[in-house]
Amino acid sequence: MKIISINAGSSSLKFTLFEMDNEEVIATGVFERIGIENSKYTIKYNGEKIEQEIELKDHTDAVKVLLEKLIDLSIINSLEEIKGVGHRLVHGKDKYSSSVLITDEVVQDLEAFKEFAPLHNPANVLGIKAFKEALGDVPMVGVFDTAFHQTMSEEAYLYAVPYKWYKEYGVRKYGFHGTSHRYMALKMKEILGKENFKMISCHIGNGGSICAIKDMKCVDTSMGFTPLAGIMMGTRSGDVDPSIIPYVMEKEGKNASEVVDDLNKVSGLLGLSEYSSDMRDILGQIEENNPKALLAKNKYVRRVVDYIAQYYVLLGGVDVICFTAGVGENSVPVRREICEALEVLGVKIDNELNNKRGQEVKLSTNESKIDVYVIPTDEELMIARDTMNIIQNR
Ligand code: AMP
Repeated sequence: MKIISINAGSSSLKFTLFEMDNEEVIATGVFERIGIENSKYTIKYNGEKIEQEIELKDHTDAVKVLLEKLIDLSIINSLEEIKGVGHRLVHGKDKYSSSVLITDEVVQDLEAFKEFAPLHNPANVLGIKAFKEALGDVPMVGVFDTAFHQTMSEEAYLYAVPYKWYKEYGVRKYGFHGTSHRYMALKMKEILGKENFKMISCHIGNGGSICAIKDMKCVDTSMGFTPLAGIMMGTRSGDVDPSIIPYVMEKEGKNASEVVDDLNKVSGLLGLSEYSSDMRDILGQIEENNPKALLAKNKYVRRVVDYIAQYYVLLGGVDVICFTAGVGENSVPVRREICEALEVLGVKIDNELNNKRGQEVKLSTNESKIDVYVIPTDEELMIARDTMNIIQNR
């Protein structure tokens, strides 16, 4: 059974086509600069990579080209082979606590919730409409980034602000990266052979969030009303004192959304290092004795450790900590430094085992009081699995 996972952005569309019988990736690719000049697509399959510039007026165009190419390249023989389309959806507010079959109501909700995810929800709708146009009645499933976090208690998701802000305007913590954290929890369930355990999942990439999970359910997470909250990220500040906003508005003659834009786009590693948002560049600059790069990396590590410490106490101790995403999967020194800071909790890792990139590995030694793992995340597979399950159980 072939399922395609889709991640539609405002000017891009990423896809992964799976053969779900063995969960094998048949093809993957991206359509970029949709609706802008110099649009192009890249398709990888069978060890080959095809790249081509092509005019893509809109998402419908991109989906049309994608499906034509899948047939032209003999990746599939006919469109009928695609039994389902899974869409990564960003914001389901507190209405969606699990993946759902996409209906008109789901599309209306995505549109209604767009002020909560102004860049993502409208793009997700474009992706859904484009596939509906191309594939007609082929079932589609929506997998929300926010869904996994719906098990948080009121105490966890409410801010200490006037209750009316929550009741009337929906001001609360929603959390993001839920599909990745859920994948981590399921992987650990598989590895440990049980589902009653306490874990802290660290999705640390360009964006990043930490999630406290007990018995497969989210207890708390570091991102908030938007993905700006929590740990320090590539270009996002993470948590800051909100009084900074009017202060900087006045200093720089900016309005509130311009300052929030700065907190999203020119803060984090980039802001502190004044060099790059990419941890590889930061680590390279540290080798060159760049003190701001060192400061940025140290602050980054500290913020991750802050959250792990907080969640350790919240969960009453943890059985496992796992790392994923760009930095978590690949950055040997960042993982080492985080784990060194956690030695006070009894964490001990093997530096030889830590010297690996992009692969599943248990880092902790037998003496460690907490197991530490690296688990490469696979949100696309999670989306395809949910799609298959929902289609089969309709
Ligand atoms: P993601 O958002 O999950 O794709 O993560 C992207 C980030 O991962 C990049 O911006 C880098 O900071 C980081 N990254 C990827 N590969 C490495 C690596 N080999 N060493 C350190 N950081 C890495």
